[in-house]
Amino acid sequence: MQTTSEYFCAFCGEPNTTFVDISGGMQQSYVEDCQICCRPNILYIRVDEDTLDIEIDSDYEG
Ligand SMILES: [Zn+2]
Repeated sequence: MQTTSEYFCAFCGEPNTTFVDISGGMQQSYVEDCQICCRPNILYIRVDEDTLDIEIDSDYEG
């Protein structure tokens, strides 16, 4: 099950849309390059088990 969510780039602050595969777990983290500035963000994803709302924190890589 895949859904989309939004995060703000840790570098440039621009909003990015990302695909989240909920079947991958309620907590996930992976690196994704910003669609605006192409720099790598570490995304920390938390999925609410009841509502399936997604929260994403972004951090600098490295
Ligand atoms: Zn950026």
